[in-house]
Amino acid sequence: MELKPGLSALVTGGASGIGKALCLALAAKGIFVTIVDFSEEKGKEVASLVEIENSKFHQNLGFPSAIFVKCDVTSLNLNLAFEKHVSTYGGLDICINNAGIANTALFWKDQTDGTKTWKHTINVNLVAVIDCTRLAIKSMQALQKPGVIINMGSSAGLYPMYIDPIYSATKGGVVMFTRSLAPYRRQGIRVNVLCPEFVQTEMGEKAGAKYITLLGGYVQMENVVKGAFDLIVDESRAGSCLWITNRRGMEYWPGPAEEAKYLVLSSSSSRRKISFRAPLGAQLPQSFEKVVVHKLTHNFRDATHIVRTPLKLPIESGHVLLKIIYAGVNASDVNFSSGRYFLGNKKDLSSLLPFDAGFEAVGIIAAVGDSVSNLEVGTPAAIMVYGGYAEFMTVPSKHILPIGRPDPEVVAMLTSGLTASIALEKVGQMESGQVVLVTAAAGGTGQFAVQLAKLAGNKVVATCGGKEKARLLKDLGVDRVIDYKTEDIKTVLKNEFPKGVDIVYESVGGDMFDMCLNALAIRGRLIVIGMISQYQGEHGWKPKNYPGLVEKLLTKSQSVAGFFLPQYSYLWKEHLARQFDLYSSGKLKVAIDPKRFLGLHSVPDAVEHLHSGRSSGKVVVCIDSTFEQKMAKL
Ligand code: NAP
Repeated sequence: MELKPGLSALVTGGASGIGKALCLALAAKGIFVTIVDFSEEKGKEVASLVEIENSKFHQNLGFPSAIFVKCDVTSLNLNLAFEKHVSTYGGLDICINNAGIANTALFWKDQTDGTKTWKHTINVNLVAVIDCTRLAIKSMQALQKPGVIINMGSSAGLYPMYIDPIYSATKGGVVMFTRSLAPYRRQGIRVNVLCPEFVQTEMGEKAGAKYITLLGGYVQMENVVKGAFDLIVDESRAGSCLWITNRRGMEYWPGPAEEAKYLVLSSSSSRRKISFRAPLGAQLPQSFEKVVVHKLTHNFRDATHIVRTPLKLPIESGHVLLKIIYAGVNASDVNFSSGRYFLGNKKDLSSLLPFDAGFEAVGIIAAVGDSVSNLEVGTPAAIMVYGGYAEFMTVPSKHILPIGRPDPEVVAMLTSGLTASIALEKVGQMESGQVVLVTAAAGGTGQFAVQLAKLAGNKVVATCGGKEKARLLKDLGVDRVIDYKTEDIKTVLKNEFPKGVDIVYESVGGDMFDMCLNALAIRGRLIVIGMISQYQGEHGWKPKNYPGLVEKLLTKSQSVAGFFLPQYSYLWKEHLARQFDLYSSGKLKVAIDPKRFLGLHSVPDAVEHLHSGRSSGKVVVCIDSTFEQKMAKL
């Protein structure tokens, strides 16, 4: 919902603290506000301040641009406040249920019946929030207009607050109540919850100064307002919980990895499953198409063709049928099609033909076999087994990676993201305060390497070919971008990093490998991620000799280590979860190459595009565009 003049909002507890700040911020956008509070003097003062702000947008309205309604939110006349608002403004666009109190009595020592102490806290913080949400939904439904409700939670609703368990209980209740209302988005009503840590208000100041220091200080009011506005504006947010702290910034809670745990394991219906069940709809086909390698060559177009194959039903026991929506394109698709992945396993590689192509995909579980109890039809999932360039894929259930949504960004986090995440940690032993050099940095995996190195607190140098890619790398936080089309990499490294670089994430090979090795610092580590420059030679990939390599490494205590992702499969789930968390908290960006590839026929085009040197970010093929359109509407 765009915050624009003429909308109307009702804010409970709007006379002071966070409520007041929100009223004024809404008024600064020209939004009419009803302030509901029992503090008459302060409430009227906020109303007049709102009117002053609003006068910059509206003149001669014939009705007040702000109303103050004196009301205890636990009282029966709460509905009068909503009625007054709707009759004055002709509807209710935004409702912020903000009124809340702390509990001062020690509940177990309480000799009274609790109605004036801890039960009152429950009534104000939880019961009244439920009641206000009920009244807001009724008002919004009656007018059949979209609306946003924001309930004020607290970080004490996400983790225990030992000094005030009653307060913590009420806020925990508000969080779960709100998250359970996600399905109302189908009626155009989005209910979200905001959970800031301590803010410097009358209530926040009751927390000890030492404790606040430990938390990194008070959360700034402007961040609370920003969080509330984000929840109003972002149409994708429904049942969302936005957590705001000084230590971690703003992040949606729980992250997709945490959410995936209960979405997969729960047997009852859940928000995501409801959402994703719907588009699957149609019956399963009797056959489907997939890309297979029929000839061993690094020329992917010549190596592959599309075949139609029967869909075997029922699904084998312990297996799952995945309907694929997006497949990821990788530099090594050409090594796979040339049979290089199978070298060492067999002497006669051609006896392996035909075999399925594609390394990774995301989609929706379309059927499950007997004895699969933890996965359900309609659940989004990712796979990293060979055969991803297909409309459907049957895989053992143990290979299913649960995900929040089957999006292109998730595809990028699979092979590309995991390679960077695991290789830098396990092989690069990356810490902080070092210089990290990444080659082909604006590509599928390079983009993750630069960001993870930066997040770990390193200085990042990155190479790429072209202005657009250089711009992307700057946006991703790279300290020194070397666009080899305009600058000489060797000269820059020599002049600007005379002591050398500590870690190299190298995926180009050939001359680039030599240059990186020469730029390595004492005790430096060069991780061999790949050698894309060598994959497409006239006769495919030719092994290279490196004269003097051992002597070089010995005299500088350096190491060169290889990394091959399939050999680290035991770490995939853990590192994927980390990436989801970073992504959902906005700390990790995912660049998808802007060129659209639709359907299995476009796979060779996509592979060639990746090898053309013109791609930027992760190259992805959309296998089912109809699904994509249905998803966009959810
Ligand atoms: P990518 O980086 O998206 O590949 C595209 C980029 O590579 C281009 O933008 C270009 O970057 C560079 N490039 C393309 N063709 C080139 C050529 N002929 N010579 C020099 N540079 C060329 O691809 P990716 O799938 O993420 O793979 C990148 C590398 O990581 C590959 O070497 C791949 O094999 C490796 N990889 C390894 C693992 C593993 O487990 N070891 C896993 C995934 C990927 P600039 O021109 O801008 O430099």
